[in-house]
Amino acid sequence: MRTKWIDRLPDYLDESIFAELCRIAKSLGRPLTMDDLKSARVSYGLLKKRYGGLRQALKLAGQDAPEFHRSVRDEDLLRELERVWDSVLAKEGRRPFKDDLSRYGAKYSYGPYYRRWGSWIRACEAVLEWSDKKAILGEQLTSAEPGIPRSPRKKTKRAIPLRLRYEILKRDNFRCTNCGRSPSNTPSLILHVDHFTAESRDGPTTKENLRTLCDDCNLGKGDLDEGPTRA
Ligand SMILES: [Zn+2]
Repeated sequence: MRTKWIDRLPDYLDESIFAELCRIAKSLGRPLTMDDLKSARVSYGLLKKRYGGLRQALKLAGQDAPEFHRSVRDEDLLRELERVWDSVLAKEGRRPFKDDLSRYGAKYSYGPYYRRWGSWIRACEAVLEWSDKKAILGEQLTSAEPGIPRSPRKKTKRAIPLRLRYEILKRDNFRCTNCGRSPSNTPSLILHVDHFTAESRDGPTTKENLRTLCDDCNLGKGDLDEGPTRA
């Protein structure tokens, strides 16, 4: 168990440090970020002092380094934080904390967010603003991953700004308005904010036309939407 580990390595020779970095990367199955060092027996301070930073240490240890953050665009950072926010919101009904970046497998650690916006709260505010702006502009295409074509006619849930989605979930007490379940009593449950009258039927993105649905009910409703009649 992680909690039983001693906090220090038996020695701090380069090979012991590299082995520790490799061990953590292996257990995570992805490149290490700064946040991961919290549970490591090697501090960032030591890596910085001895090798110049995490990235350099990983390189010497023969490990992949995470994307080079200084070259990451604001938009990529915002999009990734929005993705984490979406997951946290759907799973736990709250806004994300710094730790959620690693808990939800974010591509970036807190470092680049801190460097860009100066604090976690300001980074979160930037995401909300960006999400609002994106919804107003009707942005859909820039969220498409390369190689995955997206139908321009098909509107996605992305069109509902994060801020509004949060308000709807809060209004509905983070429960499915159909079956009443919530992630607090059904941990596997994922909540969605859904249009009462579908967007494809010109349902507006307003509080009155939005509701919280769980995965199951949302899928059931999807069938209804495809059906010929619905009041
Ligand atoms: Zn439900």
